[in-house]
Amino acid sequence: MKKIGITTTVPVEVLIAAGYQPIDLNNVLVADPDPGRLITIAERAGFPLNCCSWIKGIYGVCLDYGINDVICVTSGDCSNTIMLMETLKLKSLNAVPFAYPDSPYPHLMQPKLEELAATLGTTLEDADKVRDELKAARDLALKLDELTWQQNTVSGWENHLWLVSASDFNGDFRKYRRELQGLLEACSNRQPYPAGQLRLAYIGVPSVYARELYPFIEKHGARVVFNEVQRQFALPGPGKSLAEQYSSYTYPYSIHERLRDIKTELNRRQVDGVIHYVQAFCHRGIGDIIFRDAIDLPVLTLEGNDDFFLNSHIKTRIEAFLDMIQRSRQRKYSQALKK
Ligand code: SF4
Repeated sequence: MKKIGITTTVPVEVLIAAGYQPIDLNNVLVADPDPGRLITIAERAGFPLNCCSWIKGIYGVCLDYGINDVICVTSGDCSNTIMLMETLKLKSLNAVPFAYPDSPYPHLMQPKLEELAATLGTTLEDADKVRDELKAARDLALKLDELTWQQNTVSGWENHLWLVSASDFNGDFRKYRRELQGLLEACSNRQPYPAGQLRLAYIGVPSVYARELYPFIEKHGARVVFNEVQRQFALPGPGKSLAEQYSSYTYPYSIHERLRDIKTELNRRQVDGVIHYVQAFCHRGIGDIIFRDAIDLPVLTLEGNDDFFLNSHIKTRIEAFLDMIQRSRQRKYSQALKK
């Protein structure tokens, strides 16, 4: 199969039906042994220093890894992708735009899917067959999510890794399914994490320093039991059709759609505090105002740029946040005992 890069989660069923192997360029960037060099490729080409590192990294990945076909999401993800697409075309890459509709309605999604299928030379009937094939892998990803917050046998990092990888199934959905099945079996023999542990939610785009963030949190007696955007990548609302599936996917739509999902899950998963990650120079950072207003729990806003590790400033802020939640929980517990 010919590789096709994707700049964020797209209807991969259509790509696979058209004979392509989808590759999430963000995942390639963070998995690279030296992601900084990929960002440097973009900066040398003229990308400004104050442009988001994901955008620059994607550009670097396309050039360095020799990806010739790319689906660029021009609406529902990032306005920077429009110019990214133009620069890729300048390098003679085949950059195909895909736009999510403005509102999450299946009748608006349907023509977008049809257009994508026609552009790639396939049909939605074939894409539907692929959807059936992907179902087992998606079900396992959601099972892993359940084990994270219900059985407490899955770490926040494992949850992040497998859900974030559901955007492209690491390029091979059968292998993804097999490996995830193996992990779930191993989880059934694990001891659950301690019941009194702090339970955190992570909202916002995946962080550049995820690899260090989750273990650091766990080292300090807490665990992420809800990864908001990553869970959305596994498409938790499959519906009855592709159009329904990609309409219940909250990430491309208004922040209020996301908030409904976030608040439901915070409550269901008995979360003690929320980490909101924002990427430097990203318009989504402004949403922090709305999240802080709407979420009735302690919120820690963390920012990342092109540092793929936790610096000491961020570590101290996380430690102080966890300490604050722990103390407030102890205070509430003592007050309840006195009553
Ligand atoms: S983090 Fe923000 S600016 Fe960067 S690619 Fe994502 S949406 Fe765009």
